[in-house]
Amino acid sequence: MTDPHELRVLNPATEQLVATVPAASAEDVAAAVARAVRAQRTWAAAAPADRARLLRRFADVVDAHTGELARLEVREAGHTIGNARWEAGNARDLLLYAAGGAERLLGRQIPAPGGWDVTFQEPLGVIGVISPWNFPMPIAAWSSFPALAAGNAVVLKPAETTPLTSLRLAELALEAGLPEHLFQVVPGHGATAGRALVDHPDVAKIVFTGSTRTGREVMERCARLVKPVTLELGGKSPNVVFADADLKAALDPFSFLDNSGQDCCARTRVLVQETVFEEARDLLADALAAVVVGDPADEKTQMGPLISARQRDRVRAYVPEGAPALRGSAPDGPGFWFPPTVLTGERHDGAAATEEIFGPVAVLLPFTDEQDAIRLANGTPYGLSGSLWTRDVGRALRVAQGVRAGNLSVNSHSSVRYWTPFGGFKQSGLGRELGPDALTAFTETKNVFISTEGPAQ
Ligand code: NAD
Repeated sequence: MTDPHELRVLNPATEQLVATVPAASAEDVAAAVARAVRAQRTWAAAAPADRARLLRRFADVVDAHTGELARLEVREAGHTIGNARWEAGNARDLLLYAAGGAERLLGRQIPAPGGWDVTFQEPLGVIGVISPWNFPMPIAAWSSFPALAAGNAVVLKPAETTPLTSLRLAELALEAGLPEHLFQVVPGHGATAGRALVDHPDVAKIVFTGSTRTGREVMERCARLVKPVTLELGGKSPNVVFADADLKAALDPFSFLDNSGQDCCARTRVLVQETVFEEARDLLADALAAVVVGDPADEKTQMGPLISARQRDRVRAYVPEGAPALRGSAPDGPGFWFPPTVLTGERHDGAAATEEIFGPVAVLLPFTDEQDAIRLANGTPYGLSGSLWTRDVGRALRVAQGVRAGNLSVNSHSSVRYWTPFGGFKQSGLGRELGPDALTAFTETKNVFISTEGPAQ
């Protein structure tokens, strides 16, 4: 029997208990929000340069703890140690980038007869952040740090299975001298703590990252209070490979195996021009066989386990026994393992080809020409990410314009950068995070007209 009052954090590679954490109740969330309201008033009144200085100090403290944070991410989320180190560094770098924004939150001066018209970007107040388990540390950072830099307080509810790095980041914020209660973490269940945060009238905005299904509910609940919401949801991204592409680079299996495929940007629809389809299949088969799956704490490991038994069951349901597929290997024994897999006998409109599997499973599908490629790339309700591979620049631009997704890369499987905007089209989300406008998403625009008319003569 699971206790609703505590969260049990398991190491996904061993199934051993890492920690138990008390689960926040709705009352705990309300108390955290009340504290955040008070902390935010003082923070917003501080000089932008002082806010920036404290956030840079926070970055220094994170920098001094990247090794510890990375090891924690390996233990609670099963990320490979190399990836986890990158993630801790990403949190630090984003802090530095966002800190610079605190002093650059500019308004505008707009010509208006009879006076001056100026705009201000004012902080919203308390931001509620709800994060998923797949990238607990980077997503906590992406959604929280720009909000802090813009003068807001943050109450963050991490996923049930992965609260530890978020809790540690909040401790490090205090160590760096950020005001108490400005950045609070309320670990808890979605149905209680998550809903309490969404429904709280003093939470000015919700930034939700997670499944499209939960995102829809969050948006509905926010609508009742006319509360703004940023949604970073699911994906089923294409990798469009034309015959003239560098096939080996284009078919890098880590475009869908990174983080064991538990990546909203995973390019899990591998669309290959029919004239090179056989060659592509052979390349993928060799690449899958070479993937090193195992202990994520080992420097040589390329792919770790899935997050939970539940997730493994979900992934397995898309790969029936005997389904035509290319397969790599995975360890036996304890741990939530699943081998790298590419399904080769799927229909382009079938479940495995259109639904987010969120595991190391891709589908390989042929296309005929440019129009067909665009049609197939757009053939899901999602629109988060994707890659296009061709040496023809004109075609790359045409296809990039035709694919409805928020983040595309041409001749690259590039990942998210903290200094470029990130977010989804269609049912992959609403709004953008990161990039040069990240802070603006945590402000309201206030317009003030100042009359220059003198007293009547
Ligand atoms: P999820 O929707 O199950 O849970 C996400 C978070 O919402 C968790 O913290 C959970 O506790 C909370 N939650 C659950 N029910 C809630 C409710 N009724 N009200 C408020 N909060 C609630 O998602 P998940 O399984 O943790 O994460 C995987 C999903 O996240 C995938 O679909 C993935 O594509 C998506 N994702 C998207 C992005 C992006 O940037 N677009 C990034 C990472 C993950």
